[in-house]
Amino acid sequence: MRVQDAICEGHGECHRAHPRLFPLDEAGHTAVPDGTVVPKGMEEAAQLGIDVCPAQALAVEPMRQGR
Ligand code: SF4
Repeated sequence: MRVQDAICEGHGECHRAHPRLFPLDEAGHTAVPDGTVVPKGMEEAAQLGIDVCPAQALAVEPMRQGR
């Protein structure tokens, strides 16, 4: 998962969509580290949290093979 914490505006929509996948820091901004691998079976939940982010701070990209 790509996380651009610099453009996160702290809306918390991702967290409301899935609190465990999208933790927030004390300031209400995303605490998901850039490069986090979405656990198997949670792809849909991750996509939902990504889709509701008004700042478009979150994205998924396919895993690269052989790295
Ligand atoms: S929904 Fe987007 S802007 Fe809001 S806390 Fe999550 S990453 Fe940040």
